[in-house]
Amino acid sequence: MIDMDISKIRADFPILSEKIYGKPLIYFDNAATTQKPRCVLDKITELYTTQNANIHRGVHYLSQRATAAHEEARQTVAEFIHAAAAKEIIFTRGTTESINLVATCFSELCKAGDEIVITQMEHHSNIVPWQIAAERKGLHLRIAPIDEKGDLCIKELERLLNSNTKLLAIAHVSNVLGTINPIKQIIAMAHAKNIPVLIDGAQAVAHLAVDVQDLDADFYTFSGHKIYGPTGIGILYGKASWLNKLPPYQGGGEMIQNVTFEKTTFNELPYKFEAGTPDFIGSVALATALNYIKDIGIEHIKEYENYLLQYATERLLEIPQMRLIGTSEHKSGVISFLVGNIHPYDLGLLLDKTGVAVRTGHHCAQPLIDLLGIPGTVRASFALYNTKAEIDDFIEHLQLCINILM
Ligand SMILES: *Cc1c(COP(=O)(O)O)cnc(C)c1O
Repeated sequence: MIDMDISKIRADFPILSEKIYGKPLIYFDNAATTQKPRCVLDKITELYTTQNANIHRGVHYLSQRATAAHEEARQTVAEFIHAAAAKEIIFTRGTTESINLVATCFSELCKAGDEIVITQMEHHSNIVPWQIAAERKGLHLRIAPIDEKGDLCIKELERLLNSNTKLLAIAHVSNVLGTINPIKQIIAMAHAKNIPVLIDGAQAVAHLAVDVQDLDADFYTFSGHKIYGPTGIGILYGKASWLNKLPPYQGGGEMIQNVTFEKTTFNELPYKFEAGTPDFIGSVALATALNYIKDIGIEHIKEYENYLLQYATERLLEIPQMRLIGTSEHKSGVISFLVGNIHPYDLGLLLDKTGVAVRTGHHCAQPLIDLLGIPGTVRASFALYNTKAEIDDFIEHLQLCINILM
């Protein structure tokens, strides 16, 4: 089928051999966070053990080595998403902080009455920062609708983009529906009206190839912890032309050029947006994770996860009263579902007792769940280390849980 040696890959992830209530762990909560390969865990220990020193400051040996590693990591990230230059990569704490940065700084360029467009399928991270900015600056938030399959209504979106629209902010992949949005087409559509686009790539980068130049994205954001890297580190990619236009986000060390009590001048990109001591351990560990993925090949991962998605979808549909939430033809390995009248929380709780980790609830997309008129969903989401055998076991456990609850 697919030439990936899954047992070898699984051996790279120590946590996968953990037992849950004495049962093998079936980790299907990868859309919430992914597990870490040993090379990432080892890198973190190695850095703290042999190379810990604050960067961009010291003249001493360790500081210089740590600085070089941090900047090399920036280069690795730039290459991974094919950014034109490393200075277009800003290290943040995660997708949430990346979007807050853009919402805060970009809205400074807006005036009352300007419009920001988002969609019905956004994560809270790509809703609330815009609401706060809108409140502060008197902006209007416009919401593009989705259809019953969970696809974006492109025509409706196009209609919303007008001369007052200052920015479109949209998920690459929905964390609830699994829908992969046709963002290249959407970006071209927005650009035809001179509207820049921010992409929330939190659910995309670990699962499909991202080329920010080919997409022509103005901003692209993602989190380290969802791409086999550590928590607390994330990425904001921005075209240099846009990043230069934005005012700074936070003030402090690192982001300055010259400070007097009268006036401060700001540092150049990317440091202008990196106030304070950066997570120079997280950045290098993230680069280690990206190199791990690169070695396997993102195209292989995509193909394999698509196989898991298709197989799991088929097997789930064998279950009576199964209702899939999100049936787009273009999906990533995220399956949200409900069974009969069973509350998703009850199902998640029972599944846990069988060793299966799934997410239940509104998945940080409450407006979408409300719109669908459901109490939430059970969500199974896959990563490169999941297997067909795990899906078979999951279906068996799920049947048992359903029998108990129905
Ligand atoms: C997880 C997620 C986020 C938020 O990421 P954080 O790592 O919590 O900052 C934003 N958008 C989507 C689509 C996500 O899945």
